Amino acid sequence: MNSRFACCAALVAASALAVAQEPDGRESLGALSRATDYNQRPAFKIFDNVYYVGINFVAAYIVPTSDGLVLIDTTYDRTVDHLLAGVREMGYDPNDIRYIFPTHWHSDHFGGAKRLQALTGAKVGMVGPDWDALSDRGGIPEDAVVRISDGDVIEVGNTAFTFYHTPGHTLGTMSIVFDVQDGDDTFRAITFGGAGLNFQGVDRTEMYLKTIRRVQTFKGLEVSVPNHASMGNVFERADQLAARKPGEPHPFVAPEDLRAYWDTLMENAEQKLVREKARAGL
Ligand SMILES: [Zn+2]
Repeated sequence: MNSRFACCAALVAASALAVAQEPDGRESLGALSRATDYNQRPAFKIFDNVYYVGINFVAAYIVPTSDGLVLIDTTYDRTVDHLLAGVREMGYDPNDIRYIFPTHWHSDHFGGAKRLQALTGAKVGMVGPDWDALSDRGGIPEDAVVRISDGDVIEVGNTAFTFYHTPGHTLGTMSIVFDVQDGDDTFRAITFGGAGLNFQGVDRTEMYLKTIRRVQTFKGLEVSVPNHASMGNVFERADQLAARKPGEPHPFVAPEDLRAYWDTLMENAEQKLVREKARAGL
C-alpha cells in the first residue's frame, strides 16, 4: 500500500495520544477511509498569533506575523478550500501566506502544499530527506523550495521559527519551535513533527527513540501546537479556552502535559523496539 496512507491509519487507530499501536503496514485503504475523520471543523483562535485552520483529523495552523502569515501543515489537497475559508473567517487574507512549513511529506500534512503554494506564491520549507521522498518536489516549483536543516532559524517579521530535524516517523520529520502570544504573556511552543510509529525496523525505531530523547532535553517548552489535534487534546482545550474567565490560565499552556507526552512516546517506542528486535531475531 501507499505509505502516505499508513500515516493516517496509525494515528486514527491509536489512542488519544495517537501512538499506542502501530499498524502492520498492510491495512487496506477501505479500512482507512472508514476510520479517518475528514469532517471539517470551523477555524478557531488559540493564541493571539495561532489559529487552527485544519480538519478534525489533521491540524493546520496560521501564525500571523508582522510580515504576513506562516502556515504550519496544509491538510490534504481536497481540504484546501476548507483551510482557505478558515483563514478568511479568522480575518486574514490567504494571499498573505509567506511561508508554508509542512512537518513531513505525508499527504495529510503536505497534500495541500501544491495548491496553496500556487495560490499564494509562498515559499515551502521542509527538511531535505522529506523533499527527497517526493517525486518532482511534490509539484512545488524549485524557486519556492526551502531545504531546511536542523537548527535553522527563519525570521518572518517579528516571529522567529527554529527548526529541528526529528526523524523517525519519516526520515525528514521536522519540528518547529516558536513563541506564542496571549495578551502580554509569551510562551515557548513546539509543533512536534510526527509521532506515529507506522514504520518498521530496528534502526528506524532507534532513530525515533533518539529523537524523543533529544526533544526531552529541550528547555523552556510550555505549549504543544500538535499537528494532530488528538496528540494534545486540542479540541478539549479549545472548549476550555472558550469558557476561560479573565485571569485564568491559558489551557494550552501545560508544560507538564508536554513532558508526559514525551514519556508516552518513549514508552510506546521502547515497546516497539522490543517487537522489532524479536522480529529481526535479535
Ligand atoms: Zn505522517
